[in-house]
Formats: sequence, C-alpha cells, structure tokens
Amino acid sequence: MHSSIEKLRKFFRLEHENGYTNTAVIGGLANVLNLWEGEARNDKLPEEIVQATSASLRAYADLDPARRLELLKVLWKQILEKVPEAGLKKQVPVKPVQRPPQPQPVPAAVEPPSVPEPEAPPAVPVVAEEPGVQVIEEKPASNPAQEQAQASQLPAKIVSPAPNPVSSQVSNQISSKASSAAPRPQRPVQGRAETRPGGVTSKRPIALNASLTVLAGVGPRHASMLTRLGLNTLGDMLYNFPHRYEDYSQLKPIRDVFYSQQVTVIGEVTMVNSRPLRGGKMTITEAVINDGTAGLRLTWFNQPWLTNTLKVGEAISVSGKVEQYLGRLVMNSPDWEPVEVENLHTNRIVPIYSLTANVTQKWLRKLMFQVVTYWAPKLTDHLPETIRQAANLPELGNALLQVHFPDSDAKLQAARQRLAFDEIFFLQTGVLRQRRDWQSVPGRIFEVEEAWLEARLAALPFVLTNTQKKAVADIRADLRSGKPMNRLLQGDVGSGKTVVAALAAALVNQSGAQAAIMAPTSILADQHFHTFQNVLAGENGALKPEQIRLLVGDTSATEKEEIRAGLADGGIKIVIGTHALIEDPVTFADLQYVVVDEQHRFGVEQRAALRSKGTNPHLLVMTATPIPRSLALTLYGDLDLSIMDELPPGRQTIPTHVMMPQERERAYALVRSQIAGGHQAFIIYPLVEESEKSELLAATQEHELLQKEVFPDLKLGLLHGRMKPDQKDAVMLAFREKQYDILVSTTVVEVGVDVPNATVMLIEGANHFGLAQLHQLRGRVGRSEAQSFCLLIPDHEDSAENERLKAMAETNDGFILAERDLQQRGPGEFLGTRQAGYATSLKMASLSDIQLIEKARTQAQALFARDPGLKDPENSLLAEALGRFWSGGKGDVS
Ligand code: ADP
Ligand code: MG
Repeated sequence: MHSSIEKLRKFFRLEHENGYTNTAVIGGLANVLNLWEGEARNDKLPEEIVQATSASLRAYADLDPARRLELLKVLWKQILEKVPEAGLKKQVPVKPVQRPPQPQPVPAAVEPPSVPEPEAPPAVPVVAEEPGVQVIEEKPASNPAQEQAQASQLPAKIVSPAPNPVSSQVSNQISSKASSAAPRPQRPVQGRAETRPGGVTSKRPIALNASLTVLAGVGPRHASMLTRLGLNTLGDMLYNFPHRYEDYSQLKPIRDVFYSQQVTVIGEVTMVNSRPLRGGKMTITEAVINDGTAGLRLTWFNQPWLTNTLKVGEAISVSGKVEQYLGRLVMNSPDWEPVEVENLHTNRIVPIYSLTANVTQKWLRKLMFQVVTYWAPKLTDHLPETIRQAANLPELGNALLQVHFPDSDAKLQAARQRLAFDEIFFLQTGVLRQRRDWQSVPGRIFEVEEAWLEARLAALPFVLTNTQKKAVADIRADLRSGKPMNRLLQGDVGSGKTVVAALAAALVNQSGAQAAIMAPTSILADQHFHTFQNVLAGENGALKPEQIRLLVGDTSATEKEEIRAGLADGGIKIVIGTHALIEDPVTFADLQYVVVDEQHRFGVEQRAALRSKGTNPHLLVMTATPIPRSLALTLYGDLDLSIMDELPPGRQTIPTHVMMPQERERAYALVRSQIAGGHQAFIIYPLVEESEKSELLAATQEHELLQKEVFPDLKLGLLHGRMKPDQKDAVMLAFREKQYDILVSTTVVEVGVDVPNATVMLIEGANHFGLAQLHQLRGRVGRSEAQSFCLLIPDHEDSAENERLKAMAETNDGFILAERDLQQRGPGEFLGTRQAGYATSLKMASLSDIQLIEKARTQAQALFARDPGLKDPENSLLAEALGRFWSGGKGDVS
C-alpha cells in the first residue's frame, strides 16, 4: 500500500474522530501538504489525484465542519476510483495488527475505525538511557568504496569540533556507539525521495532515508505520532526547523521586570494552590516563582490540574505580560514550560518545535538533538564551494546544526540565511532552466520596417505612452530574435495593454501568420474584439474587419463553423475568444502568436493547449495585477518582463475614502448624487450567502435590502459567483447598457470590465479584501473623463485592520500597493496556480526578501553561464538535488 495513501487515510480518520476540526495535523491539514505531495508523487499516484487532493485540502481550513466532511468524502471517492488499492486496508509489515481487507464505499474518514487504534503512547515517551543513535546497516551503496571511505571518516568528524559546549560529551557517546553499532540486525529501510532543497543526495548517508524507528526509543507508535508532524525519515528531522527559540541568554532577573512589560522569566516554583471562586463556578490557581532576585505571582483560571503539573522546587519559564494586582506584580495566564536545567547552563538559545498530541517538547528536542548532532556534520554540501564562497554562506551541515541548536544569535542568523538561500536558489535554477528549455526551440522571425510601425501608430486614436512604446519595442525585439517569445506584460488596470497586444498581432499578420487572443470571460473577449477592430481594421487599417473574429461560447453554431473554416484556411488572421478557443476543435493554418489576458485566470494546461495549436508560437501573457519585483523574479523568473507603470494622460486619480459603518448613509448619499448626475455605481460585498457564523454581509441579501429599503426608486442589478458565466455576462452587459443604476456584486466584477459611465465604487466589508483585490476593484471606475470615487467601509472600527484601507486612501499606484500587500499578507495573494506549490513550500525564505532573491538569482545565472547542463563534477550533487526538487511537476512554462 502506498504510504501517502495510508497517511491520508490516517488524517481523514483523525479528522473524523476529532469532529472535522482540522486538528489531525498540528497547524491544520494544509501544513503537511507539501510533504505529502512529494510522497504521493514518489508513490506514483496519478498526478490529477495529487493535485486535486492537495488543492482541496489547502482550502480545508476555510470550510465549516459539514463541508469538510463532504470534501473528505468526495476526495476519498475520487481516490478510490483512481487508486483502487486505496480501498484495501493497510498491511502492516512489521507488527501484524491484522486488518481484514474490506471494500470501502465510503471514506475511512467517515466510518468508525474498524480496528482499535494502538493504545495512546505515554505522554513523555522514554528515550533510551544514553541518547545514542542506533545506526542501522546501510543498504549497499552504488559506490561501496566511497561509502566505506565515508564511514571510516565518521568518528573523526563527530569527535572533532563539537557544535556547542554540551554536545561534545554526548557526541562522543554517539560516536562510540555508532562505531560499534554496525553489525546490528537489519531493519527494512524505506527509501523516500526528497522534495525540497537540501534534499537527499546520492553521497548523503543513505540512512537519512531510514524511518524513524531506527532511533533508540522510537517504536512504530512514536513513529506514527511523528508522522503527524510530517516527520518520516531522519532526513525529515534535519529539516524540521524550530518554529521559534527561547533565548535564555537574554533573560531578565525578576527584580528588573516592570508593569506592562511583555517578558519571559525563569524561576523556581515556591508555592502553588487552587481555590474555588464565585461560589465554585470557577477555580483560580495561583503560583509563585522565585529566581533568587525576586518572586513573581502567577494566576490561571479554570486550570485546576496545574496544581499537579506545577511542582514546588522545579524551574519553569513563563512568558506573558506583567500586570498589577493589589500593588504587586502578577502575570495572568502566562504561557509556561518546564525548564531543563541543563539548557539554562549550556544551550542558551533553545529551539522550540511544533508539537502534536502526545509529543512533548522535551522528548522531541532530545530526539532532534541526537539526529542533528550526529547526522548534520556528515552531509556533503550540495552547493558547490564556489557558490557558497561567492554568496558568503556557511556550510550546509553547519547551518543545519546551528539552526537547531545555535551557539549564538549571529550563527543562527547565518544558518537561516544559508537555508533560505538554498530554497530560493533552487527556485531560481528551476525557472532559469525552464527558460532555457523554452528557448531551445526555434521561433519564427518576424520583422517590420520602422515606417510600417510609424504608420500603424499614426492610425491610432491616441499617442502611446512611453511605457507602451517600450513594451512594443520589447515585443518587436522578441519577434525577430529567432526564439519563441515568452513575455509577461504587466500593467496596472487601464494602462493600455490591449493596444500593445494588438500592434504585435498586426506585426505577425504582416507576414501572413495568425494570432489568437484568449480572455477569461466572454465580456472581456468582446471588449478586446472591439479594441482590435478599432485599432487594426479601421480606415487605413492593417486588416479588413472580417479578418478579425470573435469566438465565444455563445457564438452560433453556423458562425463557429465559418470561423473554424477561416482559421483553418488562413483567411482569418486574428481570433479573439474565451475557453471556446481551446475547447472547440479549432485548427489554424499558421498560428504564430498567442496572447493570454489575465493569465492567472487560466490553468497551465489551458495555456499550453492554446499554444499547441501552433508550432512554437510566440507567447505574450498579460496581467493587471501588479506583482512586486521580488515575486516577479521568483514566480515568473522564466519569463521576460515588460512593466507598464504609467497610465495614459488625462486619467484622474480616484479619491478613496475609508468610512466607518455608521457613516454608511453618507456613502449612500454620494451614490445617489452620482446617479442623479447620470452615472452609475458599484456596491461590492465580500460573500455570496450569509453563513450563520459570519458577520459578512452577503450580496444576495443586501441586494434585496438595498432595493427595498435604501434605493426603492433605483434599478439594482445583482452579480455573484454562483451565477453561470452567461448569466453573469448578461448582467454585466445590462449594466453597461445602463439598464441598472447600481450593480450589487461580489468580487466577480473585478476582472478588467469597462463600464466608463460608472463613477462610484463602494466596497462593504472592505477589510476582508487584499490590497491587490481592492485596487482591482477600484480600477473598475475612473475609466472616463468624469470624476470617480472609491468608498471603503470595513465591518467594524478596528483600526489595526484598517492598515490596508489606509494604504488604499494614500495611493493609486498599484505597484506600491502590491509591495505593501506582500509585506502584510505574504505571497499567497499573488501566487495563483503558478508554482504555488513550490513557493509555499519555502520554510525559511521569505518571498519578500528582495536581497536574498537577487543574490540567489545572480548565483543561479552565473551557474548557468558557466555550466548550462550542470555537467561539471563540481555541480553533480547540485544537479541531482535540483532534479529531485523539481521532479514533482514539469513546472509552468507560460
Ligand atoms: P488594460 O491595461 O487595463 O487592459 P486597456 O487596454 O483596456 O487597459 O485600456 C484601457 C483604456 O485606455 C482603453 O479604453 C484604451 O483605448 C485606452 N488607452 C490605451 N492606451 C491609451 C493611450 N496611450 N492614450 C489614451 N488612451 C489609451
Ligand atoms: Mg485588460
């Protein structure tokens, strides 16, 4: 049975037992998905299952328990269909807990577990007396001589420079144990490919693939607990980074703490007792700790068991806010942890790991210590020395040691830098390699005379902005380069991308070749169609009107047929459309130029499907979501970038006001006055349906309410995500044709639809939106000469939440907002489907760290310049590690 399936089964069952509370995995299911994906691919599960599972479980946290149950059921059903073996119960190889195989029509998750679970492990599992790592015999290596050589180096490596003061003694024990441990009975070793940077290398000790049961004191039960933390192998342990550290080198004596301070202090418990409060309805537990400089009183409510767990005479560390009660300093409900006295005197910076049920910090830390101090020094660094030196980074083994058990803050920071560098470096080498692959095929050469371009520009109804001109020049250079263009055209809403795309299409048509433009909705396709007609097929136009056609779902069967014929025989030069372009059996005589608008709305396969209708056609993808530079380099590092950060002249900025909920009447007054002046308004709500738990206003209900109570005299349209595409289009068109005064909508309206007559964008529950999204919404107005307004109403007055809204009020510049969004909310908003899997698998690196990203990119580029095929022996480990990192998917080349 596949271990990845087994794991899912386990998660699902735990979820079932826990009432779908997303507690099967610490921090939620989403936390283990990256690991799981790697494992699933290693198990050769069908890619569609891997992706479907991973994508749905990423959304798991956002669902209510009933929906979660539904989701798990559906997922399991899919899995059973594609992986029939999943229906069989696990065969436990080692300890035969016999599970009768039985067909499973419903997920294991929703049926009661058919076999009683192994009894719960002890709260503090016992580690073998000496913290030794029992080394299993390694599998025969591909190069036994080398392995031998390595083995013979072991003791020397371990004994020599101890990573920190305490470890030398322990390490000695380990080493002596290790060297005498060789001829132990062999246990099965499960190989498992790594899925992240710093992964397994062939020269890396094979035992790092071994399951955790090889560790002294770790039996199958403990191993299965650790699985919940994503820890399956010794190698996993090395990369199980602490989520924080307790820095005992910075401790304050209790005497020096003062009121209102947030501190961590350590002291010995001198008193603890509990007593009832409020007639027995509550209990209060009080304790006093003393560190020799002063005492501090601690209180907890309704945790009477603390009387037993806090022991007089033992040291604990407590963290919390210092408060005052009856003139004395106290801490209310502080976080606390027993202190291991040896830590206090030795490891001054102590790692704190994520835990799961029945795994204690102390136990896990001990285990980590064994594994890390023994194995980290034995790793051969996959990063070539030249790169490591150039980027000024510590060695891998050292970095791993220091990130777990730092000697000092400086060494910890250096270690983190190194591990973060690895992650970004792998991403960068990956995208650069994609780029190289992309460019390894020829692209048709298209050239035009300067005079031809001048004539085209002269025929436009306006003068191009400088950034438009630059973008046209970039594309023109690509088209004559002999390599297929692969360019991302990024420009804020309204910056005029369409005309740029159209000019390039005309350039390609000039030599008789064809162009296809794909947009996510038919209303957008229609809009582009009109722009193309105006720009290219007017008087003195490059094309005749009938050479540019629109193909959408609604196009009549006869017209579709006519268009297909025209495309097949080359009579039609440009086709603009929606998914219909790839869904219908459309063929081209000679497709050489493909444009994908709002590219993030399409999947990899969809973009590839359109491209595959030509032979290595030139590709232009466009997006109106400004992407911060650091992210663009990471996520779109394989594309060339043209950025249009300038709006056509005459555009006014859109004054943006944040209003409190109680000022809503004023907002409505503005809406009214604009409508009285002949304009229209958008009112946006964050959700479609009201859910009991949520205070979010719902567009459907609000539409009703607004129509009845607030604007009974006006015509209100409604648009939301549950409507079918043609229903949505019908509503948008009706709004554009002024059949409605106000469009009440969810965010489905955000994509580049042009309703120039709309001048008010009122956004309710504005605090629920990301900056990028708010900015997109605001871009729906201000599309004509008329002054437009944007009003943001958060659902309460919590000022902290209004940071984003303030930013909106301060600037209209999408790139500035994008940078802020990245800082505030992380990269999630920008990722879409593109390489999101890899980007979210970053444990150390931050995608907003532009310096790190540029450093890694510089090194990756230099590497490719030196050794494009990574053939140099110096790079062999790197090539392998890279292969594994990217083995999951082919990446995304569009
Ligand atoms: P987006 O970049 O958001 O896709 P569009 O291509 O839809 O923007 O252009 C927005 C509007 O600006 C269109 O009505 C277009 O005709 C107009 N436009 C584009 N370029 C210019 C320009 N240089 N000067 C004036 N108007 C322009
Ligand atoms: Mg557009």
